[in-house]
Parts: sequence; C-alpha cells; structure tokens
Amino acid sequence: MISHPFTVTLTFFGDLVFFLKCRGAAPTIQRVLKEKASVKDVIEACGVPHPEVDLVMIDGTPVNFSRVLQGNSVIEVYPVDVTHTSLKGHLLQQRHITKFVADGHLGKLTRNLRLLGFDVVSPAPADDWRLLEVMQDENRGLLTRDRRLLMHAVVRDGFYPRSQYPDEQTVEVICRFQLSNLISPFWRCLRCNGSLQEVEKGDVMKDLEPLTRIYYERFRRCKDCGKIYWRGSHFDKLRARVEGFFSKLAI
Ligand SMILES: [Zn+2]
Repeated sequence: MISHPFTVTLTFFGDLVFFLKCRGAAPTIQRVLKEKASVKDVIEACGVPHPEVDLVMIDGTPVNFSRVLQGNSVIEVYPVDVTHTSLKGHLLQQRHITKFVADGHLGKLTRNLRLLGFDVVSPAPADDWRLLEVMQDENRGLLTRDRRLLMHAVVRDGFYPRSQYPDEQTVEVICRFQLSNLISPFWRCLRCNGSLQEVEKGDVMKDLEPLTRIYYERFRRCKDCGKIYWRGSHFDKLRARVEGFFSKLAI
C-alpha cells in the first residue's frame, strides 16, 4: 500500500520549548511524515518527553498519546503548569505523586526532598534498567535529567528538573506535583530514606558522643539504618534550609 506524505504542525506551549532541539527556535515545528505515527512518537521526536506533556489537542480536539496521525494535522502540546480547567477530563498527567525514584546525578535534590519528608529512593548502581524497575515495582515517579530515559515507554509519571541547581530543582518538583501541603520536615533519614521515629534517650545512650549525652534530650532514629538525629548544631543549618524552601514556595 502506498502511503502519501502528510504534514503535521506542532506548537509547544509554556516551558515545553525548553526541550526543543533548536534552542531559541519558534515553538512551532512542521514535520512531513511518510507513514502514520502515534502523536506520542511525533512529540518525542521533537525532544519533548511524554511525562512533561499534560494536554494534546489535534485540530482543536483533546487526544491521548496513542492517537495515530495519518493526515495533515495541527497539534497543540501543553505542559502541566498551564491551567485547563475546562479540559480536566483530558489531562494526561497526574498531580500529587509523593514517592519518587531519582537518578544518581540528582543526589542533592534527593536529600532536599527527604529533608522535607518525601519518599525518594536512589538505587545503586543506578543504571537505567534498575531505575525503571524500581519505578514500576514501587509505583514511583521518575526524577531524571536524562530525557531519553524519561521518554521510555514504561514511564508513567516523571519529571525533568529544568534548573541545574538542587534548591531550585526541589521547588520545581514540589510545584510540579503540588506537594506544598504534604511537606513534613525532619521525619525522614537523609542518608537512606528510612522514616524516623522518636526514641527515648536511654535507648540510644550507648551510641551517643559524651557531649551529646549531656546537652540533648530528644532523639529520633531511622527505622532502616539506625542513624540517630538530634537538634545539634547541624540542625540549625537544616532548619534554615527548610525555611528557605518555605519562603520560595510562599508557604
Ligand atoms: Zn537511615
């Protein structure tokens, strides 16, 4: 069967232009296709990973990622942060994801999110296969700056932090997944992601340095790795970090 070439015109809205291959190019791209293709594949061929796309309209009608293109089409592609209240039933991304798997390059973001109480694992060794496996097995959102990985067909929820700076990335993740109301600082182990529980001083006495024994009364311990936390000098720095996030998020 002979297929006739056809033209698709894609316009990317909001910060999706961040992903387009020609930086600074117009947000509208024309492609000539020689055979039919899913709208997801055509969008990703422009550089935009599907977990970043919240709404796709073809000739003014909302569609899902599997819609097959086989004739001239005008396609609008929107990110998550553009509000479409009238199109709520057609939005493609979930909000309120609270559990994540982060790739190893995002170590400081991982620690920041744990500091704020969020469940973030970072498996080692963090090869792509392992990250995707943990994501699927534990139903986690994927945090990565590897856009090829984010485009993998098995990724349901994911996010590509735009900023290179961990504190800005942290705010981006909280905004993208609307997590401000769920922040619960100092209840998760920064080292291993285990949850912390309050413990009696007597229970941890033997593990404390002499001055810590004298000056501090309240302790929390990681249920997983056993690390002990208390309000020592390091605590003021962590509290300042938390307050910094609160002010950036206007909480
Ligand atoms: Zn721990």
